[in-house]
Amino acid sequence: MPKSDIMTSQDSPAKPTHCPRCNSTQFQLSDFVQYQIFPGGGYQPCSRPRQAAVCLCGYSISTKSLNSRNPEDRSFKESIDSARESCKRKSSDQLLEGLRRDFIDRAEFQELRDQINILANVLEQIRKADKEKPPHKP
Ligand SMILES: [Zn+2]
Repeated sequence: MPKSDIMTSQDSPAKPTHCPRCNSTQFQLSDFVQYQIFPGGGYQPCSRPRQAAVCLCGYSISTKSLNSRNPEDRSFKESIDSARESCKRKSSDQLLEGLRRDFIDRAEFQELRDQINILANVLEQIRKADKEKPPHKP
């Protein structure tokens, strides 16, 4: 296995790398390749694989130092940077805003619950009144 920048060496005590974004220590090593994908189906690779450690949160770290003079390394680094920028845009504030849009909060839930209880009481009163009414004679 090739030595990588994120793995600890054999002679130093094992100290896991932390994700700079979420502080997780769990990564999956994956090979990334550029593909040409044909609209009618099929694909072909158009670069050699580049390896990255991908965190549970999606943050990726190249396992090798990339040489900006090498076009494939440069393209891989640009892709990593682009993915990181995209993740930054989806900030926690935006996620919260999306949740607020799609879900009700505790106060709204309580208000709806109160209204349902009022309607249930009204329905019960109507049913009671119907039972107490003398039977309808034609
Ligand atoms: Zn992470």
